Amino acid sequence: MIKMTQAFQKVAAIRGMNDLLPGASARWEQFEEIVRGWLRGYGYRNVRTPVLEHTRLFARGIGEVTDIVEKEMYTFTDALNGESLTMRPEMTAGIVRASIEHNLLYDRPQRVYSIGPVFRHERPQRGRYRQFHQIDVEALGFAGPDVDAELIVMLARLWKLLGLTDVRLELNSLGQPAERAAHRAALIEHLEKHRDILDEDGQRRMYSNPLRVLDTKNPAMQEMADSAPRLFDFLGEESRAHFDGVCQRLADAGIEYRLNPRLVRGLDYYNLTVFEWVTDRLGSQGTVCGGGRYDGLIELLGGKPAPAVGFAIGMERLLDLWEQSVQVDQPAECDVYVVHQGEDAQRLAARVGEDLRDAGLSVIVHAGSAGFKSQFKRADASGARVAVILGADEVAAQTASIKFLRADAQGEAAQQQVPLAGLADVLNNKG
Ligand code: ATP
Ligand code: MG
Repeated sequence: MIKMTQAFQKVAAIRGMNDLLPGASARWEQFEEIVRGWLRGYGYRNVRTPVLEHTRLFARGIGEVTDIVEKEMYTFTDALNGESLTMRPEMTAGIVRASIEHNLLYDRPQRVYSIGPVFRHERPQRGRYRQFHQIDVEALGFAGPDVDAELIVMLARLWKLLGLTDVRLELNSLGQPAERAAHRAALIEHLEKHRDILDEDGQRRMYSNPLRVLDTKNPAMQEMADSAPRLFDFLGEESRAHFDGVCQRLADAGIEYRLNPRLVRGLDYYNLTVFEWVTDRLGSQGTVCGGGRYDGLIELLGGKPAPAVGFAIGMERLLDLWEQSVQVDQPAECDVYVVHQGEDAQRLAARVGEDLRDAGLSVIVHAGSAGFKSQFKRADASGARVAVILGADEVAAQTASIKFLRADAQGEAAQQQVPLAGLADVLNNKG
């Protein structure tokens, strides 16, 4: 009997979630190498927390009345025990949870970072995806403006390392809870006066999160937002001193900024310093990094009270900007590509490949058998600096022919024969 199998319907990736294939991924790796070196330069150490957390961590840590918690989280019920779980929409809450759970701050403050995917159910467009990646940097247990400033200076260094010039800094202070409460009362009064021009979101939030109403992108509400009482005018002496401390240190470092009293950030937990780095080169998704101080969060999540400050970089946006701003060369797949003809040569090629790897070279040995011409095509496409050629003559003489493939090595003889024993040294320019 003949069994009919139904053709399998091709499966595509989920909308807003991107594949990174070798070409693009190589660029990400280059980028991450720069980033890890940069982080080491300031003593930051890596942490990795789970992608899944209990939903209530984010509801509490980010705030119930935020875009993220209200409508952007991927939340589902664990079928085994009925618990509500959420794919992390950001990393701070998870890192703070872990630091409390493992008592990370018991004897000293900690500088930590994490790099990885986060998930938000948003409308996909350029610079806005449903799975995207963040570089998340947190200075846990530090209270002073020196650390706020150091984080900002650190970011300026990263832009320099990447060769970016078109990013600018926006800065604000959100003060302390009591100052915010006084401002909030004044703000609600202002919103009540303009109730008729508030959109649906604005109406809904004017009491629950009035500060967020000012963060609107609705043009009809701009004038109302511009004329609203400014939180900055409600700051007490200490908050102002902290802010001045940050500004002084930025001036010391020669970093320019724009004071943006409307900068409130989407998350509830910030106090004092908040900042964003923005660019005009990415259209409307121009914020590449956002951060600030969150002195209340550790206690809010059940830890021993401790101050903290941090930021998150959107990697897709930053890479997009990097590629637009600087010519980034595609790295070669290997240093050496080994081509061969005949079974003996193929077996020798495998051995030569291992020897060269022992000497620290990266090597692709042509797999299978094919004509020299098509093997050389592959060698060329790999970006290798040099091809090693093994045929019957080379096997007999225990030599290899080498051919430099790149323009910058044109000075070399077109093709030369080298004894196998000295091959690695020649390829490492020691021969
Ligand atoms: P936006 O106002 O653009 O929605 P946000 O305030 O929600 O940003 P944060 O929570 O501060 O963003 O996240 C830090 C960074 O992550 C942002 O500055 C941005 O670069 C990036 N980012 C945020 N949401 C997305 C997304 N959906 N896709 C890609 N990158 C994103
Ligand atoms: Mg957002």
